This record gives sequence, structure tokens and C-alpha cells, in this order.
Amino acid sequence: MSIPTVARPPAHIEEHEYRLLCRSFAAREVAPRWETADRLAEFPRDFYRAAAEAGFVGITTPASIGGADLGCVEEVIFLEETSRVNPNLAVAMLVQFVAGSVLWRFGSEEHRAIARRNITGECLLALAVTEAGAGNDIQAVKTTAKRKGGGWVLDGLKAFITLGGVADVLLVLAQTDAAEGRRGLCFFAVDGTTPGLGFTKMGTYVNRPAPTYKVALDDVWVPESRKLDAGFRELMAAFNRERILVAARWLGHMQHALDWAIEYARVREQFGKPIGSYQAIAFQLAQGHADVEATRQLTYHAARRWDSGVPVGEIVLDVSTAKLFATQAVVRVTQTALHVGGGWGLTDELPAMRMALDALVAPVTVGSYEIQLRAIARQLGLPCE
Ligand SMILES: Cc1cc2nc3c(=O)[nH]c(=O)nc-3n(C[C@H](O)[C@H](O)[C@H](O)COP(=O)(O)OP(=O)(O)OC[C@H]3O[C@@H](n4cnc5c(N)ncnc54)[C@H](O)[C@@H]3O)c2cc1C
Repeated sequence: MSIPTVARPPAHIEEHEYRLLCRSFAAREVAPRWETADRLAEFPRDFYRAAAEAGFVGITTPASIGGADLGCVEEVIFLEETSRVNPNLAVAMLVQFVAGSVLWRFGSEEHRAIARRNITGECLLALAVTEAGAGNDIQAVKTTAKRKGGGWVLDGLKAFITLGGVADVLLVLAQTDAAEGRRGLCFFAVDGTTPGLGFTKMGTYVNRPAPTYKVALDDVWVPESRKLDAGFRELMAAFNRERILVAARWLGHMQHALDWAIEYARVREQFGKPIGSYQAIAFQLAQGHADVEATRQLTYHAARRWDSGVPVGEIVLDVSTAKLFATQAVVRVTQTALHVGGGWGLTDELPAMRMALDALVAPVTVGSYEIQLRAIARQLGLPCE
């Protein structure tokens, strides 16, 4: 497949200009696609290609690998702006950002070639970590990798893998040596067409435009060259960046929900007046604004700290605080929007229920609410188990 050459955002672009580019991309490419994708629970692959052509895949990837060489702040801007239109097409890109960075940061030349193809829109990625018995407890991963014929044979069952069934390459976390515990965990870059892979779409109520799959690995052989020099430790570093990106996703979503609810409260009249003129409703929306602004400050603060290059261990407190706050706030704000919508909010004639449903996944993934509290408590010096 040939990818047309397009004007890409120049390096060192001003943040405001970058935001305008992202906003116009979201209006042009997210808005016309997300509702059909949501109804069908099918990822529109042409959206990924459109994002690649516009230069929004590989935002932080070095120019030598074909990326835009920008920072975490630009990724945050992209995710905030696209999530203001729909948080679920945005999350498909979030997965590309995280999986792509594992490939170019920790991979060989062969892995970097995959990252390059990802950036040009030819290779959609999925990150396959979770299993039925290994959710927040990633060290419990049971998928095995055993040496065979100059390569490795993978066996196991992954669950909740976003884009798993449509990805060209899956980064699969597997255990190479159970006696080594978490040090034995390792990523393998597995082509989606490899014999022995089986995919079952999961029936989740959330993230429908970027569906999740169970991925069965039955005697899946991969060459040695597909093993990454990355395992548990590298995944934890990647997760810290992912938590900032997740916060950005929910920032965009809650801003959208608040904007919608304010407009609705302005025009919906009861007892002869707009419902927004009643303090009981107006104050809920004012509280929503405080949630959005606090999330914005925490998220951009964490992203700027990340870009400043301080060791990941030194920004865990900022990252987990942003992720914790954003994922709680988005539930509050979308519940407020739902409530302001009244009975109509519960119908498909208004977007409120869809927005509230989408937000329910926020405190669950990429380290749940409790896991963020645990990380924060430990950073505060508490001996939290
Ligand atoms: C829409 C969606 C998309 C996803 N995409 C991906 C993907 O692309 N790739 C991937 O690998 N995974 C993905 N996941 C999986 C996701 O990361 C897991 O669902 C998540 O890690 C939680 O795991 P679990 O559901 O098994 O919950 P569990 O870990 O079983 O947690 C259940 C409850 O127990 C609590 N709990 C667990 N441990 C502790 C503790 N030590 N202290 C206090 N409370 C605790 C949790 O906070 C939670 O409330 C996705 C999930 C969803 C829903």
C-alpha cells in the first residue's frame, strides 16, 4: 500500500498551533466516523490511516524512525482534542503511541522497522498484556514462551486486548521462565496472521469503536528476532506515560460533556426559565468546570515533567495523581451531564447516556483507581502493601 505524502506538523511547532491542527483533524476525521463505529462496534481502519497521513502517529518518535520528534505534551494535546469529539477513536491512537514507543525504545532494527510502518499507516498495533487471572497484577501473566527451532513458541489466552483482532502486529507479554518471576516476562512482536492465533470480539459496553478481543495463542511460533529487550520494568515505564495519556483522553471527554451540559441547561426551560438559571443546576456545572480545570492542570503538569527528562521514578506521584483525579472527575462530570439531561438524557435522542457509559471504564484500566491510590501512598512514604 502506498501512503500519500502529506503536509505534516513541523518540528517545534507552537502548542497553540498544534492544538488547532489537532482540532481540525478531529472535526474532519473523528466526527464523521465515530457514531457508525460505535453502533457496529467496529474499528474504522481508514481513521488510523488518516491519522498517519496527517502525521499524528509517532508524535514522540524520533525523526530518524520517521516520527514527528515532538513531546508528551503534543500527544496530550492530540488526545484531548480528539477525545472532545470521541474518546474511543482517540484511544485507538493512544494504543499506537504506547505500543509504538515500546518498539522503538526497546526493540532491535527489525522492531524499529515495524514502528516505522506503524507511523506510515501500514501496521496497526495492539498491546496484549491482560489475562483472565492477570489484570492489575501483571506479574501473574501465565502465557508461556518456550524456546523452539531458533525461536519461541507462545501459548496462553489474553483478554481485553484493544484492536487485538484487527491489529497487524500484537506486542504480547509472555513468561519465558516462571522461576524468574517478573524478570522472566518479555514482549514478543507477533504478526496478527501468525498460525495459532485466534480472536474473539468481547461484548463490552464501552470503547465500542475500538473493540477489545480475547486472543488465544496456541503453539504460536515467532523467530528469535521478534523477542524484544523489554519486559515488566519497561512496561511499567510505558504505563507511566500511558497514564498521562489516559488522563488527557478523559480531560477531552469531560470537557465535551460539560460543554454539552452547559448548552443544554441554557436552552432547556422548565417552570418558565432555563434550568441553568436554577442555582441547584448551575452549581453542579460550576463544580464540573472546577473538575475539568483541575484535571487540565494536573495532566499538563505531568506531561511537562515527562518531557523535562527527569527519571520516570521521580514523576510517579505527578502521573498517578493526574490519572487518579482525571478518571474520577470524568465520571462525576458525565454523571452531572446525564442528570442535567433528565429523562431525555436517558434516551438515545441526547448524547448524555453515551458519554456517561464511556466514562465508566476510566477508573478501571491502566492501573485502577485503587492502584493509583496505592502508588500515591507509597510515594508519600507510607508502607502500603
Ligand atoms: C475497554 C478495555 C480496554 C482494555 N484494553 C486493554 C489492552 O489493550 N491491553 C491489555 O493488555 N489490557 C487491556 N485492558 C485490560 C485492563 O487493563 C484490565 O481490565 C485492568 O488491568 C483491570 O484488570 P481486571 O479487569 O482483571 O481487574 P482486577 O485486577 O481483577 O481488579 C478488580 C478490582 O479489584 C481491585 N484491586 C485489584 N488489586 C488490588 C489491590 N492490590 N489493592 C486494592 N484493590 C485492588 C481493582 O482496583 C478493581 O476494583 C482493557 C480493559 C478494558 C475494560
